[in-house]
Amino acid sequence: QNHLLTRLARHAALTPDHLFAERPGRAGVSYGGLFDLAERIATALTDAGLTPGDRVAVQVEKSTEAIALYLGTVMAGGIFLPLNTAYTGPEVAYFLNDATPRIVVCDPARRDEIAPLSPAGTQTTTLTLAEDGSGTLMDALPAQADFAAVPRDADDLAAILYTSGTTGRSKGAMLSHANLASNSEMLRDYWRFDREDVLIHALPIFHTHGLFVATNVALLSGASTVFLPRFDPRAILRAMPRATALMGVPTFYTRLLAEPDLTRDLAANMRLFISGSAPMLVDTHRQWQERTGHTVLERYGMTETNMSTSNPYDHERRPGTVGLPLPGVELRIVDDTGAEVPDGDIGTIQVRGANVFQGYWQMPEKTAEELSPDGWFLTGDLATRDTDGYITIVGRAKDLIITGGFNVYPKEIESLIDDLPGVIESAVIGIPHPDFGEAVVAIVVPEGDANPPETEAAIWAALAQNLARFKQPKRIIFAPDLPRNTMGKVQKNALRDTHDGMFF
Ligand code: ATP
Ligand code: MG
Repeated sequence: QNHLLTRLARHAALTPDHLFAERPGRAGVSYGGLFDLAERIATALTDAGLTPGDRVAVQVEKSTEAIALYLGTVMAGGIFLPLNTAYTGPEVAYFLNDATPRIVVCDPARRDEIAPLSPAGTQTTTLTLAEDGSGTLMDALPAQADFAAVPRDADDLAAILYTSGTTGRSKGAMLSHANLASNSEMLRDYWRFDREDVLIHALPIFHTHGLFVATNVALLSGASTVFLPRFDPRAILRAMPRATALMGVPTFYTRLLAEPDLTRDLAANMRLFISGSAPMLVDTHRQWQERTGHTVLERYGMTETNMSTSNPYDHERRPGTVGLPLPGVELRIVDDTGAEVPDGDIGTIQVRGANVFQGYWQMPEKTAEELSPDGWFLTGDLATRDTDGYITIVGRAKDLIITGGFNVYPKEIESLIDDLPGVIESAVIGIPHPDFGEAVVAIVVPEGDANPPETEAAIWAALAQNLARFKQPKRIIFAPDLPRNTMGKVQKNALRDTHDGMFF
C-alpha cells in the first residue's frame, strides 16, 4: 500500500466521473481523468529513471497537470519538491544543489536556463510542463494508464517543501506520508468538506496552503474545485454563486473587499471562507462580515507542521485569533527556559503531533535545535492563550525588538496604529541604533494622502497616551504599501534592509 496515495485516490475509484476541477477556458477534469493522468505520469517518471525515495523538483505554472505530477510522483514512490515560480536561476540552483533531485520539471520557456543548474556529477533528467499542459513530460506519457502505486509506509517521505524564506534562507521541511494524510483528513472533517463542496482554488500550488490544505482536502473529500491559475478577484466573484468554500490569504480578502460587486447575495451559496498564512486584520474580519454576512474562519499553520490551530466551525470564530489547537495537535506556549507561561502571557508556540515534520533536509543541527527528542517543534511564533483556549499570534520571535534591554512586541504597536482613522495598516520593526541597540520604527500605510500631517499627529498622540515610553517608535515613516510575498506575508527583512542605516 502507498499510504498517502491510497487515501487521495479513494474518490477516483468511487466516483471517477465526478468533477475534480472546473478550469477557465479549458475542459473540466474528472477524478478519474486526474488519476489516469497521474498513473501515466508515474510511468513516465519511472521510465526516466525515478526510483523510490528520489526527489522530483517542480517549478511550473499552476495547472491540473501539475497536480497530476504531484500525485504521479507520490504514486511512483518519489518525493515531491515544488518550487516557487518566482525563484530566479540562482535561487533554483541553490535548491537543486541542496535537494539533488533525480528529475526536474520546469516551464518550457525556462528549460535552457534551468537544465544546466543541476549539480555536476548527479544524474538528472530535465522535463518540461507548460501552464496549458504541454511539454516534454506529456510527450513522454504512455497511451494507457497502467501503473500500480509503489508501496510506501506512513513514515516514508512524500514531499520536501521549502519554507517561504520570510525570516532567512528557506529550509527544506521533510514531510512524511502520514504527516500529510493525517492533517488533511482531520481538516476535511473539522471544516466539514464533502463531495457536495465546490472549493474556489486560487492559491499557488508550490506552498503548503494551496497544495496540502486546499488540494489534499478537496481530494480527500471528493469535492469539486474551481481551479483558477492565479488570484483574480473578478474570477473569484464570478465563481462564487456556484461555489461553497474559499481558502485564501488575507490579501485575497482585502482585495475582494475592494470590489463593489461583492455582496451578501453573491456569497449566498458559500458556506465557508478560510484565511491563513499571514495574520488577518480585525478590521478585515469585520468588513467581511458586514459585506457578506459570513465570518471568516482563520487558522494557523506552517510548512513544518501543516495546520496546527483553527477557529471552530460551529462555535465562536474570534477575529484576531487563530482559534484552538486542532484535534490531534498538542500545543503549548513556553518561555525561554521551556516552561509553560500562564494564560495571557507571551511565549513561543511549541507543537507536537502526527502533523509535525520529520526534520530539515540536510540540516541535522537546525533540526536538533528546533525539534526536541520528545517530538515538540519550536515554531518561532510568539503568542498568548486566552483563559478559554483561543490562541493569538503576536509576531515572530525573529521580529521581536530589543531596545535598551527591553522587549517590544511589534504587534501591540501595530494594532494600536492600525485602529486609528486614516491608517490602512502598519509594520513595526527594530532598526540598529547607536544608543538603544535597536530602535522601534513604524512604517505606516495611510489612506489617501501620501504624507498626512493629521494622521501622523494622531498616531503620535495615541502612542504617547497608550504605550510606555520605551515602546514608542522613534520614527514614523509613511509608505504607499508594505512589501509582501505571494502568500501575503509582510517581508520585515526587506523593511529592515531598506531602513538599516537610518540612525547612523
Ligand atoms: P521561513 O520559515 O523560511 O522564515 P515562513 O515561516 O514565512 O518562512 P511558512 O511556513 O510559509 O514560511 O509560514 C509559516 C508562518 O506563517 C508561521 O510560522 C506564522 O508566522 C505565519 N502564519 C501562518 N498562518 C498565520 C496566521 N493565521 N496568523 C499569523 N501568522 C500566520
Ligand atoms: Mg517559518
